[in-house]
Amino acid sequence: MITCQLRGRLKQERQNETIAAVGDHVIVTALNDGSGVIEEVMPRENAFFRMAPSARGEFKQVLLANPDLVCLVFACDHPAPSFRMLDRFLVITEKQQIPQLIVANKIDLVGRSTAESMFSIYTGLGYQVVYTSVKEAIGIERLHDLISGKITAFSGPSGVGKSSLLNQIQPGLGLVIGDLKETQARKGKHTTVVRELFELKSGGFVADMPGLRSLSLWDTEPEELDAYFPELCDLVSDCQFSNCSHQSEPGCAVKRAVENGTVSPERYESYIRLRAGDG
Ligand code: GDP
Ligand code: ZN
Repeated sequence: MITCQLRGRLKQERQNETIAAVGDHVIVTALNDGSGVIEEVMPRENAFFRMAPSARGEFKQVLLANPDLVCLVFACDHPAPSFRMLDRFLVITEKQQIPQLIVANKIDLVGRSTAESMFSIYTGLGYQVVYTSVKEAIGIERLHDLISGKITAFSGPSGVGKSSLLNQIQPGLGLVIGDLKETQARKGKHTTVVRELFELKSGGFVADMPGLRSLSLWDTEPEELDAYFPELCDLVSDCQFSNCSHQSEPGCAVKRAVENGTVSPERYESYIRLRAGDG
């Protein structure tokens, strides 16, 4: 581990975006005192970020650079899953082009077949869902395999079993999430930025991720949202009006699809809420 300063030139070049974030690949010059200077930040493949208002307009705050995967963890019960929150999160990760893995934990509380039907809308849309129980040691190896060799961000509401899952994968790893909780408690529900990557013995890294509430969709235009709902993006071109809001216009292909059951009413509800800026 080398503590580094940023070369002043980099600060001049990137004024509207985080210069170097966790997960960035950098070129460092090592100094005699054991510290270093970041000379160059390599272009990012993708980034998990949020737009923050700033004096100069917008600032792109990069929370995690080059993530390979985001694990969205929910419990089948205790607490019951918030699909609205899941939908919101899927939109954010679609927009930021980060592959998602949905983790449905605590399947011991409802049984596998109930768990599978709870998440069937999502598997139907092509999202990958892994079913786990820390209590009964189900699905842990599979989850471990799916994150090995990758930079994975873990997120999800508190109490769903994130720390328990990570501890089961590798003892001590769950502290990542425990830490995050503490930081959030101290700072209130505000910004928690990813500070560190934790190494998996099997290869790869795990990062904590800010709570979903602190992520805003405010920079998403209503029309843009269609593209982030896989079941809607191809439908909207069949609407009678090109500027259809899919709510009350005649000849709306989306409403028709909801009525005939090809689009789920819950997902439609999420869409309408997100469009109204109400996550
Ligand atoms: P986090 O807030 O998401 O990190 O959740 P924790 O890992 O702290 O877990 C919250 C509670 O759920 C704890 O009491 C765990 O023992 C319990 N828990 C975690 N995983 C499971 C599971 O698979 N089944 C059941 N029944 N309880 C679990
Ligand atoms: Zn429409």
